[in-house]
Amino acid sequence: MGELKDLDTLVALAKRRGLVFPSSEIYGGINSCWDYGPLGVELKRNVKEAWWQATIRAHDNVVGADTSIIMHPDVWRASGHVDNFTDPLVDCKQCKQRFRADQIPGDRCPNCGGELTKPRQFNLMFKTFMGPVEDAAAQVYLRPETAQGIFVDYKTIQAAARLRIPFGIGQIGKSFRNEVSPGNFIFRSREFEQMEMEFFVSEKDDDYWFQTWVEERFQWYIRLGVRPERLRKRPHGQEELAHYAKACIDVEYLFPFGWHEVEGIAHRGRFDLTQHQEHSGKDLSYFDDQTGEHYIPIVIEASAGVDRALLTFLADAYDEEEDQGETRVVLRLHPQLAPVKVAVFPLQKKPALVEKAQALRKDLARRYNVAYDEAGSIGRRYRRQDEVGTPYCITVDFQSLEDQAVTVRDRDTTRQDRVSMEQVPQYLEEKMRTYQRYRP
Ligand code: ATP
Repeated sequence: MGELKDLDTLVALAKRRGLVFPSSEIYGGINSCWDYGPLGVELKRNVKEAWWQATIRAHDNVVGADTSIIMHPDVWRASGHVDNFTDPLVDCKQCKQRFRADQIPGDRCPNCGGELTKPRQFNLMFKTFMGPVEDAAAQVYLRPETAQGIFVDYKTIQAAARLRIPFGIGQIGKSFRNEVSPGNFIFRSREFEQMEMEFFVSEKDDDYWFQTWVEERFQWYIRLGVRPERLRKRPHGQEELAHYAKACIDVEYLFPFGWHEVEGIAHRGRFDLTQHQEHSGKDLSYFDDQTGEHYIPIVIEASAGVDRALLTFLADAYDEEEDQGETRVVLRLHPQLAPVKVAVFPLQKKPALVEKAQALRKDLARRYNVAYDEAGSIGRRYRRQDEVGTPYCITVDFQSLEDQAVTVRDRDTTRQDRVSMEQVPQYLEEKMRTYQRYRP
């Protein structure tokens, strides 16, 4: 009983309930590309919304942006991605399988024990062509991170929004990496979404801001219900740091397949802006109108994956319990993340009950994503909602026609309250506002 033991259980649930499933499945699927169905897209939007609220709107010195996926190819020369964004690739001479050399133990094939080739550096950027002529001059890249769009735009945004250091710019969007070995469901795919925030500071307080953002980002997962004992901060060793980074701390989660990075908070120094200044020939210094100084700011970055965060929330929320000889599967998702906030049921398919339940559904749908279900026993309907993490289920029964009250059932405690229909919106608001993760 209890928590998620293997990823396959979650993959099966995600497919069955239309959360996430393989892309192009009728053609046999395409390795490591995933589609989000009706409930998945709601969950994903909620994850992004929670990040946007906490990282951008909550701060008066952080603003948002949405930059293009295809950028001038010189961006990637300046950023170092053309030369350095590589993984060491090895092939097994016997079974022909490919691996990332830094992800396998020892120097033999983990699959068959065969001899491996010497590592070759393999660039992870997807290439394509802009315009009708497929020659070298027309070659462009799909961005492997959203950050560079922020760096090249930072002065335009700073001036337009009249920002003073310290300030931040964040964005959410697709990134593409031709990963050598994608896998573990949506943990590592080749097309994914990132939520990145670049924070521009001076050398007076760069360490302070680095630590502050590490703490702030770590707490975000906890506030959204992830069990703290399954999260940790892991500083990178010197040998592990990316080509641009001075320091990096990963937020890691204990997945069924071990501790892995969900988000990285990096001290990028002046690397990116200096590089873009040199390659573009444009002055990218910041002018401090109080001291009269011109300088290149230092950048602190918080970089999270939408899909990886979503997998973290799903894996952590998964719970099973015995209920009258059956297994009850419950996603104990924070109400802020739950794809459906409230489900409305008429006790039976009787016109008077259906009409009242539909009126309530319509009213609640002005604020929330609401499910309506009139099929099967109430017990089964509860199960269907538990399995996708709906925090509240409302039943309209015969007595409701007399007393204008309904039964609201809590997903976690399964406790039921009788609430007057008029009071339902306030009741739900209050429950969601004061939600605390339930520990049976
Ligand atoms: P790894 O070492 O796991 O390849 P990384 O350190 O290269 O990851 P970053 O460049 O720091 O990853 O990317 C920032 C965030 O973007 C990661 O923490 C992760 O959440 C997300 N991310 C990166 N690559 C992928 C991917 N292939 N699939 C899904 N999410 C990803």
